[in-house]
Amino acid sequence: MARYSYSRRHFMGFSGAGIASLVPWPGSVALAQVNSALEPDLIVLNAKVYTVDPLEPRAEAFAVKAGRFVAVGRSEDIKSLVGKRTQTFDAKQMTVVPGFIDAHNHAPGAILLYDVIVGNPYQVEFVTIASIVDKLKERARATPPGFWVEGFFFDDTKVEDKRPLTVHDLDQVSREHPVSVRHRGGHTTYYNSKAFELAGVTKATPNSAAGTFDRDANGELNGRVTDRARNVFLNVGKRPTYSAEQILLRNRDALAFISKQFVRYGLTSVHHQGGDLFALQQVRARGDLLHRVSYEAQDDMLEAMIAKGITTGFGDEWIKFGATAEHTCDGSFSERTMALSVPYPGVEPPYQGNVTTTQADLNAWVERVHRAGIQVNCHANGDVTIDMVLTAFERAQRLYPRPSFRPKITHCTLINEDLLRRIKATGAVPAPFTSYGYYNSDKFRFYGEALMQRCMAYRSFADAGIPAAAGSDFSPGPFAPMMGMQGMVTRKGWNGETWGANQRISVAEALRVLTINGAYASHEEALKGSITPGKLADFVVLADDPHTVDPDKIKDIEIVRTVTGGNAVYQA
Ligand SMILES: [Zn+2]
Repeated sequence: MARYSYSRRHFMGFSGAGIASLVPWPGSVALAQVNSALEPDLIVLNAKVYTVDPLEPRAEAFAVKAGRFVAVGRSEDIKSLVGKRTQTFDAKQMTVVPGFIDAHNHAPGAILLYDVIVGNPYQVEFVTIASIVDKLKERARATPPGFWVEGFFFDDTKVEDKRPLTVHDLDQVSREHPVSVRHRGGHTTYYNSKAFELAGVTKATPNSAAGTFDRDANGELNGRVTDRARNVFLNVGKRPTYSAEQILLRNRDALAFISKQFVRYGLTSVHHQGGDLFALQQVRARGDLLHRVSYEAQDDMLEAMIAKGITTGFGDEWIKFGATAEHTCDGSFSERTMALSVPYPGVEPPYQGNVTTTQADLNAWVERVHRAGIQVNCHANGDVTIDMVLTAFERAQRLYPRPSFRPKITHCTLINEDLLRRIKATGAVPAPFTSYGYYNSDKFRFYGEALMQRCMAYRSFADAGIPAAAGSDFSPGPFAPMMGMQGMVTRKGWNGETWGANQRISVAEALRVLTINGAYASHEEALKGSITPGKLADFVVLADDPHTVDPDKIKDIEIVRTVTGGNAVYQA
């Protein structure tokens, strides 16, 4: 194993006291107290540490004090820092990497805890339509007529029956209840006849540019409704109501639950799409928040920020206002509704996806948020839409220039050379899907190899020096960072198909995407994202080294321990 020499920089966590004061000075009580105050809380030894810090990429050991890394280097040197109260963790040559960061996550804890889950949220698993109908029937039996019966985490390409879910399947659940099954991608939902009836939708109801009521070969509604067309269902049918107290209780339990799931997979920071900020703070106060939150505000919360002058960066190391929640500008990659400049291959009548905003509205929104000092964040999947959001970004920055602009493009799925150049020029940060390369390989045939060579373009971004982060979009994609890494490195899916192999990146590059680039996306790269003295002590111990295992087994590497702020928040 190579040796790595220290530099003074590696003790910068002790700065002020300086290296000299680490040497015991017998007879000096005052200095002894100083020294015990400087004793690390934790040292990790005998590890294969990938720091993701270009100044010292590899190390064997590090020390943690007051939740921060304070020294990084060789085991024998770090060992010399041990004090009476220092905990020692012998990593026995296991791999240690910075805590993983998910740059886009809906954190749907309440759905996971309380709703009917018809697919596997966390990994590839096939289900039958009969199992979906059975689960919903069971819920319907416990639900008064007229109330919604809803299923979640459906994936149209993970169905054993090898046919689409239809209105007829959902009519079997009930004709007394409106029934819906939401695709995990979040942009399409399947409804039963009762739901259509309550919403007044018939086969004669027209589609719009922002969404469709899909038909079968005979022109009848087939049950599937896309994007904004679903708005007609928002205010029909009944839903349970809860008191303010009950809502808070539910949200607290939901956030505590999802936090446990995140750290189980090695995530120590997650960019949340909105959610109950009060509940989040209560979960933290009672010690159940195990990961850090970059809170991305939407709706009323965003309006309150603008009205009251709260800007990106307000908060602390655990809960901090980041960019806005995604401002949705088009449809979905996985559900094939994103806005393309060419028709979807093989779709009749010709279809180019849904654009859910206008350039004028988008310009106005971006300008307003940007002027309020808040980092903008737009959801754009298709090349048509990425062009639109870049136009809005360029305009806002021209009118009101700001040095560290960093607008986020959530998903940023289908690019071309011109878009790449403009992303670089505006300083935009793309956050392509984390786990789709592996998880959604069964959907790429709908786009074809030519388009897939320009989708989730991690290679193009890396080559252009654009710090793309990774956003799982959970629920749409599983959030497991190791599954994400495998897909980025191999571009081979669960079904053995490889798509857009030109966009492969190395394990080292994927590690950056999943750590420091996620920190950059929320303006927190000085605080986290690498194992560097002075930064938050967030790290993950892996049972195996993704740099050396068979790339097709990266997703199976066990998370042995997840540590946030020096505290073990998950242990296998
Ligand atoms: Zn999303």
